[in-house]
Amino acid sequence: MLGVKTAVQESCKMGRFIKNLIIIVVFTLFTQVGGLIWLAFLPFYQWLKGKFVPKWEYRLVGITSFTCIYCLVSLYIVPPLAKWQCGRVPLPIFSDSNLKPHNVLYFCLLNHHYVRPAVKESCEKVANQMAIRFPGTKTYYLDANFPFFNGYPLEPHFTHRNGTTVDMAFDWLDVKSGNPMNGAPTTLAYGASAKPLQGEVDMEEKCGNFLRSFEMRVTKHFYKEESYKLDETRTAELIQLFSNQKSVHKILLEPHLKTRLGLDKIDKIRFQGCKAARHDDHFHVIW
Ligand SMILES: [Zn+2]
Repeated sequence: MLGVKTAVQESCKMGRFIKNLIIIVVFTLFTQVGGLIWLAFLPFYQWLKGKFVPKWEYRLVGITSFTCIYCLVSLYIVPPLAKWQCGRVPLPIFSDSNLKPHNVLYFCLLNHHYVRPAVKESCEKVANQMAIRFPGTKTYYLDANFPFFNGYPLEPHFTHRNGTTVDMAFDWLDVKSGNPMNGAPTTLAYGASAKPLQGEVDMEEKCGNFLRSFEMRVTKHFYKEESYKLDETRTAELIQLFSNQKSVHKILLEPHLKTRLGLDKIDKIRFQGCKAARHDDHFHVIW
């Protein structure tokens, strides 16, 4: 009987270990620091177990406490440490009225918005120029970099690793009203593609790699594509302004858009290659 009890206890321990390992791996992949925070939080979570009898109460208090601790660490401890460790700073969340994250919860709470100070300055400059040329226009950033360690990639964007790359959203129009929109039509902007029109070069066909359109294929089920149209005037200006920045080294964009937006003469704008995801839902800027 004792042997059975010990076996059950051992299997419970193993189950807990695997569960925590999965949590740590997932948090590390998505937030860089979340796995470490969970590891530090575990003794407190165990301590809570004895304080709350129904399991759901203990879990609710545990998850709420972890969320609060994670947010406080991300907001107040990560920024100074990131600056000290590899000189990165967060892109503005609410402080700049022209430059904003496309989704605060995803890009900022998960710590995807860290860059070198010169990159931040450059983004703010372009966003201000856009707001002057097109009053009311906000410029939205998407994935940038994690806060720590040069060379550590922000999956699945394996080139976002040194604090010198930022994905930017295009500008869009609402077809029904014809009005300019603030941001892209999907939650994260990724997947809302301005696909090649008839007669334009289609890299999907040329590359023969269906994986490069994975996000587009998934996202199209969650919004009405026909209700939105790429704002070619504002998007062309936005890309042009980034390319005018001396410190910008390269911009990755799908070839059909480079031609459609009249940007063929700008050498800094390049095709990202057949192996990378398509870039007609955002553009990628490298400093
Ligand atoms: Zn990118």
